Amino acid sequence: MALYVYKFGGTSVGNVERIKAVAEKVKKAHDLGDQIVVVVSAMSGETNRLVALAKDMQQHPNEREMDVLLSTGEQVTVSLLSMALHELGCDSCSYTGSQVKILTDSSHTKARIRKIDDARIRNHLNEGKVVVVAGFQGVDENDNITTLGRGGSDTTAVALAAALKADECHIYTDVDGVYTTDPRVEPKARRLDKITFEEMLEMASLGSKVLQIRSVEFAGKYNVALRVLSSFTEGKGTLITYEDSQVESALISGIAFNRDEAKLTITGVPDLPGVAFKILGPIADANIEVDMIIQNIADDSTTDFTFTVHRNDYQRAKTLLDKTCVELGARNVTGDDSIVKVSIVGVGMRSHAGIASTMFKALADESINIRMISTSEIKISVVVDEKYLELAVRALHGAFKLDQEIES
Ligand code: ASP
Ligand code: MG
Repeated sequence: MALYVYKFGGTSVGNVERIKAVAEKVKKAHDLGDQIVVVVSAMSGETNRLVALAKDMQQHPNEREMDVLLSTGEQVTVSLLSMALHELGCDSCSYTGSQVKILTDSSHTKARIRKIDDARIRNHLNEGKVVVVAGFQGVDENDNITTLGRGGSDTTAVALAAALKADECHIYTDVDGVYTTDPRVEPKARRLDKITFEEMLEMASLGSKVLQIRSVEFAGKYNVALRVLSSFTEGKGTLITYEDSQVESALISGIAFNRDEAKLTITGVPDLPGVAFKILGPIADANIEVDMIIQNIADDSTTDFTFTVHRNDYQRAKTLLDKTCVELGARNVTGDDSIVKVSIVGVGMRSHAGIASTMFKALADESINIRMISTSEIKISVVVDEKYLELAVRALHGAFKLDQEIES
């Protein structure tokens, strides 16, 4: 007998018919003798609707109350799914996060899970019930309802799978797995049978929206075998797992991109110790995340300093940087909020040379100008003008032959 945690996202429970279909799927697995815990998101669009309601009340809604509000979306779906299961003659029981006791810290709207009390769930499983748990929410030590950040139901599922030592955690969604890149940009994108936690983490942080980043971190840390599959079609999806040294892996597993980037440059900065801190300190204090950072080698005794931020933070960052420019006696500040980041990701690049030059050649062949470059152990990212995004992704997908199965 195996224990599975199944998670169904908002689209998969988007209406009554779909909830009934989820119940059928769950019943089928349960009838085979497996123990099933189901985590569900709110019906698609519901969380956004609730956020909009809150904003009608308060420009910056009180975060504690926001969590009380947002947690209701998932409460609707757990109860409906449990009813649908009963209707099929499958014994089940629904719970909110606070009822289970998914204990979190008190950072409202972005809480982190600290501990899960698995006793109640285990008892029900042993009684032969399906347990349906509301995703995305928990409770802090003072019994305040908390939520885990947008997309947080994935993390609930993985955390439950870790706590229950489940055999696998299945994330059912509207795509049938993790793809080499977004098929809307490159129709030749291919579903991957397997991808490593590290690669998935890079893909997720680079904008591949399949899984919440934190859920992948969690799965890696607690070694939860994670599988992404479609709610709507049969198939084995993509298994996210540890690197298998036995199998020759592809050089590059995928191409990720992020449209929401902007870059800022401050030129003629005096080349003195502490300058990077003076530039980025105010940015960090304003809670603006910085991604790539490039400082030129100084000629005369000044240097240029460029960094990227999320496009939503561009204006705020520019205002701060203008101020710093005056304070430092630097030359000027320029910026561009129509750039994108395109990255190739693969654990295979650790042991292979020439990946970067293949990448740069593919972009050069399309006359795409690279504005910035950054590398890490398993990733190379370039910043290019927004208008080249699709072309760049397709060129790289072809250059690394990602449309072809790896021969083994
Ligand atoms: N309902 C929440 C959201 O839309 C959590 C989730 O779907 O995972 O972000
Ligand atoms: Mg989701």
